[in-house]
Amino acid sequence: MKQQLAILGSTGSIGTQTLKIVEQFPHRFNVRALATGTNISLLEEQVRRFHPEIVAVYHKEHAVTLKNRLADLSVKVLSGERGMIELSAWPGVDVVIVAVVGFSGMMPTLTAIRAGKKVALANKETLVVAGELVMTEARRFKATVLPIDSEHSAIFQCLHAGRKGEIKQVVLTASGGPFLGKKKEELADVTPEQALKHPNWKMGPRISVDSATLMNKGFEVIEACRLFELEKNQIKVVIHPESIVHSMVEYLDGSILAQLGLPDMLLPIQYALSYPERWANDFPRFAWDHHHALHFSPVFEGEYPCLDLAYYALQAGGTMPAVLNGADEIVVHSFLEKRISFLQIPTLLAEVMSRHKVIQQPSLEEIVEADRWARRETEKVICRI
Ligand code: MG
Repeated sequence: MKQQLAILGSTGSIGTQTLKIVEQFPHRFNVRALATGTNISLLEEQVRRFHPEIVAVYHKEHAVTLKNRLADLSVKVLSGERGMIELSAWPGVDVVIVAVVGFSGMMPTLTAIRAGKKVALANKETLVVAGELVMTEARRFKATVLPIDSEHSAIFQCLHAGRKGEIKQVVLTASGGPFLGKKKEELADVTPEQALKHPNWKMGPRISVDSATLMNKGFEVIEACRLFELEKNQIKVVIHPESIVHSMVEYLDGSILAQLGLPDMLLPIQYALSYPERWANDFPRFAWDHHHALHFSPVFEGEYPCLDLAYYALQAGGTMPAVLNGADEIVVHSFLEKRISFLQIPTLLAEVMSRHKVIQQPSLEEIVEADRWARRETEKVICRI
């Protein structure tokens, strides 16, 4: 039976790669719904190619333009946050791929979960800011949440080798980003352009800066903790510059299982859709006829302050991860606009976090409010420097 897909964020990096997989396996999928922010030209192309019955865009004006352009088709066009939410619970859909960036991925994810859909999750914020709530709802509505992030896909795959109680720790690999090996003094005047040059992965601006600071890895620690219900001390980060080992699980007996592959998102996206099966594809592969050396080195406390802040947010729990995420979005944006320096990123985040009064087991409204508070507070702190 064909899987009926909704792809939220269909014109972004993960969204377009998901559609590549749909094209590789046309007999396995129907695209029923597509949503995007503002790229309506690409969305129009996608509609003509994949024939969804419903689409959503962010702005009302865009929806009107798109509706006119697609007047020859019977596709329904929605707009705004509500449009995306309606699409997440669309009756004909069984798998919702959440590939939108940022906080806006949270409500559609929760909606899909509450509608009992299978959710393939590429949106980090959802698990970072509301991981406990989201996973509780997933259990309640018997919805499956499958990771698309390469590290979490790796962990998920390695976890098939043992039972939950047999896990000693999960080892998340980090490439170290473009500034690996640089001393603090050398980082003082790095530019956004330098931070955006990731050695192994092609990604959007925020996640590239977050990779350079290791904040991205910190968020992945929080995600892993929520998704796989682990304790904070069960997640270790190691530097692995080649990005071939996507992450590992170490079991109580000392066995370490790893998932390897080229740094290419097509594979984790495909696995989220094919699970529990594996499907043959013709994607580029790791070459066994070359010489390879894989390196691993430890991460020490104090070395990457943003990573330490993520562990701190996890420890503090409640609304603190939402505050860290909201504040990070603002500081990264300010760094990209050259309003602050690279080294000010962790300092400003720590400042905002220190001002926050944590609410434990927050409701969705309290999480949304913590996010708003963090953004406002961060702007204030930046204006003062
Ligand atoms: Mg990742």
